[in-house]
Amino acid sequence: MTPDGPAADLLVRDALLVATVDGDRRELPGGWVAVTGGLVSGVGGAGDPVPAAERVVDATGCLVTPGLVNTHHHLYQNLTRAFAPALRGDLFDWLVTLYPLWARLDEEAAYVSAYVGLTELALGGCTTTTDHLYVHPRGGGDLISAEIAAALEVGVRFHPTRGSMSLSRKDGGLPPDSVVQDDDEILADSKRLVDRHHDASHGAMVRLALAPCSPFSVSTGLMRATAELAEALDVRLHTHIAEDAGEDEYCLRMFGHRPVDYLDHTGWATSRTWVAHCIQADAGDVRLLGERGVGVAHCPSSNLVLGAGLAPVAELRAAGAPVGLGCDGSSSADAASLWLETRMAMLLGKLRGGAGAMSARDALEIATRGGAGCLGRTGELGELSVGAAGDLVVWPMPPVTFAGALSDPVEAWLRCGPVAARETVVAGRLVVAGGAPVHDDLPEMLRAHRRMATAMQSAAE
Ligand SMILES: [Zn+2]
Repeated sequence: MTPDGPAADLLVRDALLVATVDGDRRELPGGWVAVTGGLVSGVGGAGDPVPAAERVVDATGCLVTPGLVNTHHHLYQNLTRAFAPALRGDLFDWLVTLYPLWARLDEEAAYVSAYVGLTELALGGCTTTTDHLYVHPRGGGDLISAEIAAALEVGVRFHPTRGSMSLSRKDGGLPPDSVVQDDDEILADSKRLVDRHHDASHGAMVRLALAPCSPFSVSTGLMRATAELAEALDVRLHTHIAEDAGEDEYCLRMFGHRPVDYLDHTGWATSRTWVAHCIQADAGDVRLLGERGVGVAHCPSSNLVLGAGLAPVAELRAAGAPVGLGCDGSSSADAASLWLETRMAMLLGKLRGGAGAMSARDALEIATRGGAGCLGRTGELGELSVGAAGDLVVWPMPPVTFAGALSDPVEAWLRCGPVAARETVVAGRLVVAGGAPVHDDLPEMLRAHRRMATAMQSAAE
């Protein structure tokens, strides 16, 4: 675009540095990004002609990156954040404590928890998020449509996944009967939601995926049928896998396979799938996931909070598996800042492989392009290039916490701080401006959230 061309909708200019994370990983000192019609219409450096624009954001002294992509979350869990009776157990103890509380989830709670959770994510620089909603209590209503309504209001790009559980305690599973559904009901509702909400077009704001909670919470028949339905509807597949050391033994006993083998056995080991965690993946698992192009949502804080271990991120990436970042549910990770997860991924990478094993640029790439790969949107999300989605973040570099950080703005971004987004832009629209959410109904939502969280937590046995 030239200065004489049509005006862009939004221009972010004069950045300290624009880290495009594009195919050439261009970094543009003094750079600018223009967005028109929801898509990036121009990217340039200090010497390039700057287009006219309806709205201009001055990014002087700031780092500009693509919007961060959250590939694993459970928004509703912010209703039971840091819940005292569940804080000391392992993964299975934690689930068993919380399922009876989550059995109170209804449409209003799904809407309000999503609204608050998506706002929190936007403040941390997230522009696209998934959500894995696998608790569908009897009589709870249409929870996924409720959270999609919240996402459209907040303005964050949204990939909800239709979660499911079909094995309750009476079948040897973990959840109580009241929050599981039968296979036919799950499949029919999955199709209904995809037909109603899924948008396959370039720049789509809402896409659905199908997501049994974990291989051990649904039947083998449902795992297979879900993969077949996803193929027929051309949507993606998601689940938790290899999160806990106890899962191997459990899956061997229940299904005769270790978790990653079981994915293959049920038709899930394809590039249509991305899975959360993969901490316990061994060398053979990593090879299989890489060969098949199965994406992995790495959830550093959640893994640490649950004491679950260190995921083989470097090996997965080297094997060819797209690796993105996830905040995971608010009850296990509690904080939902993708900046924080990006920093944690960098630190865990160094802890596992040595100081040189993971740079800030590697972590940024995971948080952006890697996430786009998990969601099947490579080239469309997670990079600032012409034609990609107009999703970006303006990161402040406050003078005290960044004093002396003069030589490398990308490394400084993750080594200094902490920081939150100054501006979060989704499809060319500001969701966060001046470090605050743009919507003025947040106080009302927070009051409703407190009321619902109080009611839910009072259900503890
Ligand atoms: Zn999770």
